[in-house]
Amino acid sequence: MKRISFVLPVYNEEQVIDDFYLAITKGVEKIIEDYHIEFIFINDGSSDKTEEKLTLLHKKDKRVSIINFSRNFGHQMAITAGIDFASGDAVIVMDSDLQDPPAVALELISKWEEGFDVVYGVRKTRKDSAFKQLTARLFYKLINMLSEVAIPQNAGDFRLMDKKVVAELRKFREQGRFMRGLVSLVGFRQTGVLFDRPNRYAGETKYPFKKMLKLSIDAVTSFSTVPLTLISRLGFIVSGLSFLGILYALLMKFFFPQVTVSGWTLLIIAIFFIGGVQMIMLGIVGTYIGKIYSEVKGRPLYIVSSIYSDSYDQDKTANKKAIRK
Ligand code: UDP
Ligand code: MG
Repeated sequence: MKRISFVLPVYNEEQVIDDFYLAITKGVEKIIEDYHIEFIFINDGSSDKTEEKLTLLHKKDKRVSIINFSRNFGHQMAITAGIDFASGDAVIVMDSDLQDPPAVALELISKWEEGFDVVYGVRKTRKDSAFKQLTARLFYKLINMLSEVAIPQNAGDFRLMDKKVVAELRKFREQGRFMRGLVSLVGFRQTGVLFDRPNRYAGETKYPFKKMLKLSIDAVTSFSTVPLTLISRLGFIVSGLSFLGILYALLMKFFFPQVTVSGWTLLIIAIFFIGGVQMIMLGIVGTYIGKIYSEVKGRPLYIVSSIYSDSYDQDKTANKKAIRK
């Protein structure tokens, strides 16, 4: 029988987790005759009752494994740990707030059986706030303009991956991770499945604006060096403009010496403008240098405090190695 691993990141989801478990187990009931199933919950340093609730689920259901992080490492690292740990022939990454419907997971599986290696969920409609929808749309436009690999629009991290894709993904150990981009980068046969994305079942979003911004910056700086190219282009434009300004200043001095004091305005504007542009440029360069710095340190991507799993075989060195990286 083929194995299917569900990778389920959770962060402070005490209000949702039990109902999510009920929904997902009910959702996969139709296929339990055909597949071995494991549910890997990655507890991303939750500070509420999530861990206790997960432990109870693990005690009652052998298919449930838990990876507890030592602190909050973020959604992308949680997914990474799940992918490192999963032993399935296919791995399905899913949010644990019921925004990725279990019924759609079954559709992903049937597409996989048709021969696709990556099947991602595409949001036909979504019920997030207007602000989130707008920023998401802008983000996908921007990343596709800048990135060399095409990243599917309106697809989150909800996706199924064949084990050969998973094996390739495990080789990517970079810090600033944008998993969707990495999956696109890996290639193989990819396709999407449309679905309506419901509201979060309960609780608050764990992706406040700050985290979204970090994810976007990681995405752009990991998949594109276009901002660096733009800097030098902008530099040329500004230098050109400054040249005109100098010309203007000289002409005024020679032909209208009586009004040159008024040139002060121009001077101030030029100083401020060029100062501002330089700051922006330094900022962009700095962002990339910061990235180099954090990659060069080669720190572990996440730290596991404990693992509860019946399927976790101590001798399965592949899993062990991946988890320790
Ligand atoms: N999540 C996580 N670590 C974080 C933030 C979120 O593991 O630091 C999990 C969260 O529990 C959920 C999924 O990632 O299962 C998506 O988060 P959320 O639903 O809050 O994001 P949104 O759907 O609002 O974009
Ligand atoms: Mg959500």
